[in-house]
Amino acid sequence: MTFAQAPTTQPSLQLPWQEGFAQLGRSFYSPCLPTPLPAPHWVGRNETFAQTLGLPDQFWDHPEVLQALTGNLVLAGSAPRASVYSGHQFGVWAGQLGDGRALSLGEIQTNTGHQEIQLKGAGPTPYSRQGDGRAVLRSSIREFLASEAMHGLDIPSTRALCVTGSPGRVRREEFETAAVVTRVAPSFVRFGHFEHFASQGQIDELRALVDHVIAHHMPHLQTLEGAPRYAALLQEVTQRTAQLMAQWQTVGFCHGVMNTDNMSVLGLTLDYGPFQFLDGFDPGHVCNHSDHQGRYAYARQPQVAYWNLFCLGQALMPLIDEQAPAFEALETYKTAFPEALDQGMRAKLGLTGVHEKDRELVEGMLQAMHKDHVDYTVFWRRLSHAVAESKHARHAFEPVRDLFLNREAFDAWCSSYLARLDSAAEGNAQHRETAGLKMLQVNPKFILRNHLGELAIRQAKSGDFEMVGDLLTVLHAPCDEHPQFESWAGLAPEWAASIEISCSS
Ligand code: AMP
Ligand code: MG
Repeated sequence: MTFAQAPTTQPSLQLPWQEGFAQLGRSFYSPCLPTPLPAPHWVGRNETFAQTLGLPDQFWDHPEVLQALTGNLVLAGSAPRASVYSGHQFGVWAGQLGDGRALSLGEIQTNTGHQEIQLKGAGPTPYSRQGDGRAVLRSSIREFLASEAMHGLDIPSTRALCVTGSPGRVRREEFETAAVVTRVAPSFVRFGHFEHFASQGQIDELRALVDHVIAHHMPHLQTLEGAPRYAALLQEVTQRTAQLMAQWQTVGFCHGVMNTDNMSVLGLTLDYGPFQFLDGFDPGHVCNHSDHQGRYAYARQPQVAYWNLFCLGQALMPLIDEQAPAFEALETYKTAFPEALDQGMRAKLGLTGVHEKDRELVEGMLQAMHKDHVDYTVFWRRLSHAVAESKHARHAFEPVRDLFLNREAFDAWCSSYLARLDSAAEGNAQHRETAGLKMLQVNPKFILRNHLGELAIRQAKSGDFEMVGDLLTVLHAPCDEHPQFESWAGLAPEWAASIEISCSS
């Protein structure tokens, strides 16, 4: 599929473009124009996000916006570019990769600070290798909704401003239609960017990149000089990644392709491909059907992140000089991750304070859930309601108990749990209700289950985008009740198990 390159026009929409990544110079990117798509149309618009950013009134109605965000014209002041990075894929050094189908339009000043705007799927770049630079409607809707679902769950992520579609055809396992996601983040710098310059022996560029990240995104490290500055960056990324992994695990999110080129230096969830939120709890769950070894299975994610951080540490060694400070920085993962995970799980259980047996309590629950393949999200939500209502309702825990085949195992767990919950109450008769209400604020009613995404995609393929919009609204506030969408909060239907999510996107 070939189309003429986008004409650069002098359109009337003015955005507050700022200098940013491009200042680093041409070793870091190649200028590259998007390639137009025929007859674009809106698929999803994130109007609340546009408002948060402070984009101009009438942004969506502006005649140039649909065209510009499909790559059919270049906004005044934007200088599109693709950046170069490398990375380890599935544990193996893959050499140079780069933005093969992402184009950065530049950075703008917004109400939420400096934000980079990227088009994903706007045509080939110098880094496309064998790829066509395109994204299909299916995967673009998934990325759009998942980015916003993560945001709704308070999990750091790149954001998504909109998706546009086109009848232009893209070849995957079969022909599909093309789409473009506009994604937004303070920075899209990946571990792989550092690995790239280290592997090329371009140490000045490596240093410039670290300095850029510190200056723009980690100003509290600015005062450090020399090797300690670079070790501090490694430690900062380690901490952020540890927090992110704890959040993924507590919510039951599987990324699917945790290659170092998909790891954000800011600790954002980045690059949504074959991701999945767990239905039935299974620590060995592999959501990427191309991951035959199960390298990126749900339970392995924290360990893989640590491995990836080692790759980043290795890349930074020319700047850190000595091994000891790099090791020390990486070692902090071993306390930061479990602490963040424990804290997250305690919040899900409505527990206050810290008790030495809390981890045992969590493990016991997860084992019972795994044995009976209990739905992860439904379990937590029902438990939250049960705790909130248990003062008044004698059978409050029945709906949770019903999720288990082995009811005795649940009963045993539940009595240890309630003993722990009540032990912190110190005579406060209201404590279960208070704990339950807090739990309802952290245990979401709605997650982006595969089958919900699939239903929205099927409708979108037939030209109906209502479900995409409704899911966006619900997922932005996933702990709210949204009674009109009750059916989306239920267990996954049987057919959900047959949805195959490959790397093809
Ligand atoms: P991913 O596994 O999706 O993170 O992609 C790995 C690398 O392949 C990145 O450099 C992507 O930009 C590139 N890539 C993936 N799909 C395409 C495509 N359709 N066209 C060009 N490059 C692609
Ligand atoms: Mg990627």
